[in-house]
Amino acid sequence: EGKSVLVVGGAGYIGSHMIHLLRDLNIRHVVLDDLSSGHREALQGSRLIEGNCGDATLLRNVFAEHDIDAVIHFASFIEVGASVRNPAAYYENNVCNTVTLLSEMVRADVKKFIFSSTAAVYGLPETSKIDESHRKGPINPYGRTKLMVEEILGDFEKAYGLRSVCLRYFNAAGAHPDGAIGENHNPETHLIPLAIAAAITREKVLKVFGDDYDTRDGTCVRDYIHVCDLADAHLLALKYLNQNEASLAANLGNEAGFTVLEVIDAVSRLAGQVPYEVAARRDGDPAVLVADATRAREVLGWTPQYTDVNDIVSHALQWYRKIAA
Ligand code: UDP
Repeated sequence: EGKSVLVVGGAGYIGSHMIHLLRDLNIRHVVLDDLSSGHREALQGSRLIEGNCGDATLLRNVFAEHDIDAVIHFASFIEVGASVRNPAAYYENNVCNTVTLLSEMVRADVKKFIFSSTAAVYGLPETSKIDESHRKGPINPYGRTKLMVEEILGDFEKAYGLRSVCLRYFNAAGAHPDGAIGENHNPETHLIPLAIAAAITREKVLKVFGDDYDTRDGTCVRDYIHVCDLADAHLLALKYLNQNEASLAANLGNEAGFTVLEVIDAVSRLAGQVPYEVAARRDGDPAVLVADATRAREVLGWTPQYTDVNDIVSHALQWYRKIAA
């Protein structure tokens, strides 16, 4: 009682689904978000402190005013291509600002941290499913920023006793089934919302980035995981930190892969024909990225609910219709 969870980046895509869940469960929380890409409406009235987690003075005030027990950190830049063109911004925001946040946590004696990591920490897969022991070798600055933070967390645990759960997301997708929140990136770069927009507006032709990969139909295979299932995993991670003395890194994925053409097919069935053309490969895209999520299931007790790609697409579609209306 009385303790709050600080959700950094709570106004963003995955963060807002976390906030929705915390509200549903009456878990006290405060959001810190600079609204650089998040949306105030997505908070549905949850307490927002507007600012960046690289602002040490602001953080000091937040930790002094609120009785914070744990921090969940969603605020980061997420575009692989942009990280190649502008690595400075990525290292600054994803690494430096996170170090500031962690240092202020240590200063305020807040010792539980849940971090949005990514399958991009692995780089090119050496096995058909990737488990957490897979070699780490990110192939772009974005992935390197996430791996660096994971390594920094190891050092912070040894030196300061700050414990963490690093959740390595595969492809976050979908929207809350109640229709209240969803994905709203600007610019949008993700496959499912782009395919839906192409099907509905018929204004833009979806570009399929490469059809000569070594996969069943030549297009890339990805493991799409529903955003509400991701939020659930964070709640379990919080429980884990309350009940265990250790830190953890765990993959979050459905352990099933869909090709780009299979996703287009699912969208076509639910939203209408997706106009598409085959384009060049996108830099930094491995052919296949599929999770082995045994650890999340066994150690965190995680059971994803929306494992059917049709559910993921139909929730995304419901949200698309709402924001397009
Ligand atoms: N993709 C595509 N056309 C697009 C966007 C994405 O063919 O306009 C492909 C992309 O190459 C990858 C998959 O769809 O194989 C998922 O990409 P997304 O950007 O959604 O997520 P990422 O894997 O980069 O996190």
